[in-house]
Amino acid sequence: MLGQLRLAAFTSVFLGYTAASAFTLLINQQCLLRQQQAGQRLTAGSLTLSLDQSSSDPSPGTASQLRQELDRLSARERFFWVQHSDGSLVLPRPSSPQTTPFSGLVEQSMAAPKGPWPGPRITPLLIGTDYRLVKDLEGNSYLSHPLHRSADGSRLWVAEDISPNITALHTMLLGLLGVWILCLVLTLVAISILTRRLLQPLRDLHLMAAGVTSESLATSHLKLERAPLEVAELAGSFNDLLDRLALAWSQQRHFVGLVSHELRNPLMIIGGYLRRLQRRGQNLDPEQMRALATTEAETHRITRMLNDLLDLSRSESGQLQMVLAPVAVDEVLTTACDLARSQLSRPLLLTLPKEAAEGPIKAVAETDRLQQVLLNLIENADKYSPPGRPISLDLSQGAGTLCISVKDQGIGIAPEDIPKVFDRFHRGRNAIEHERGSGLGLSVVKLLVEAMGGSIDVESEIAVGSRFHIHLPAA
Ligand code: ADP
Repeated sequence: MLGQLRLAAFTSVFLGYTAASAFTLLINQQCLLRQQQAGQRLTAGSLTLSLDQSSSDPSPGTASQLRQELDRLSARERFFWVQHSDGSLVLPRPSSPQTTPFSGLVEQSMAAPKGPWPGPRITPLLIGTDYRLVKDLEGNSYLSHPLHRSADGSRLWVAEDISPNITALHTMLLGLLGVWILCLVLTLVAISILTRRLLQPLRDLHLMAAGVTSESLATSHLKLERAPLEVAELAGSFNDLLDRLALAWSQQRHFVGLVSHELRNPLMIIGGYLRRLQRRGQNLDPEQMRALATTEAETHRITRMLNDLLDLSRSESGQLQMVLAPVAVDEVLTTACDLARSQLSRPLLLTLPKEAAEGPIKAVAETDRLQQVLLNLIENADKYSPPGRPISLDLSQGAGTLCISVKDQGIGIAPEDIPKVFDRFHRGRNAIEHERGSGLGLSVVKLLVEAMGGSIDVESEIAVGSRFHIHLPAA
């Protein structure tokens, strides 16, 4: 848009100045010509009288008076002569070089074709019906034309040296060109600055709109200084829109938190009863037992989802409380593996470093949350691996950190999905075909690990398996 605006402004300024300059030149040229004609008529007043007398009374007296007038008024710069209707010429007597133009002027003048004004080429102008241009050997230009016609058809001619006029016009053209270039440059610079200043607020608006996320909604506001009124109004509306969006977003989070909380408790009770029923279901047939198991599994799944939603909602409202303390990570790993094994029908291998035999290996964390993270990763590894393939957990120590790896030999994650697996509600394309899920698990895992001051990353290869690494600060 900036480019188009500049181009349009540049073009109109260029055309405007060019037209104005050409018009000025044209007007000046015409003025010069009119002045010249007026001067010629003034000078030739007595000459036209003599010509009219000699045409009405062709006596030797009037002829000699005509010649005397021609001698008196002709000069090198403005030269007069008479052409009678029979073609004979009456020329002033050549007295001195100062009063005589170059020889051949008269003949050439009368023979030359009528042509355009011989001024600067930029403004060619046909200035009349009977003007001719003749040049002498030194390059002086003479403009000649019949100035007066008497009753018997005799014509009074005048040839005027217009070289000074042409020089003046050229000088003027150069001056105009200089002013034209200066004005053009100044205008272009001014237009560039102005368009940039006008469009900068719009660019700010674009950058800001592109950077707004659900987290920054409440704090994002566009501040425009010295913006034009229309853009300032637009920025105001944009800020109002952000405010309304932030309000709607916070209401939605509040609603999700509330609903998750309200649903979780009854679901946990239902889950408890279902488990008890399964334990005491000796009088139930296998089909009823299967139905109970499915119902219990679904209840568990929904409870987990609600827990995840609650955690996310708490973290967004700053209510996710985490009591960090030195935690024996090897013990948490052992407990998590024991818990998981009761649910799994595949091998789950745990490898601890040698140092674990000497004493607990501690990290700064929260036991329950760390266990929740591990169970979530083990559950995913189980969900996305073909039956029978083992899952392994490793604990290793680095400089000031502990690293827990959860490795499977499952379907793996496509390279284009890897950067997004920790995003909320993102489900990999391979996973969608395999299992049901919400796309919340890994985002909660990341949230919890980061809340414990750690980090998580993943390496994965399609059809080979995935390896999630949790890094926690050592205690
Ligand atoms: P979901 O409910 O879909 O499992 P998660 O947040 O737990 O949601 O995981 C996000 C996505 O990451 C999954 O949809 C899946 O594509 C991928 N993923 C997670 N863990 C694994 C794994 N162990 N193996 C392969 N893909 C995985």
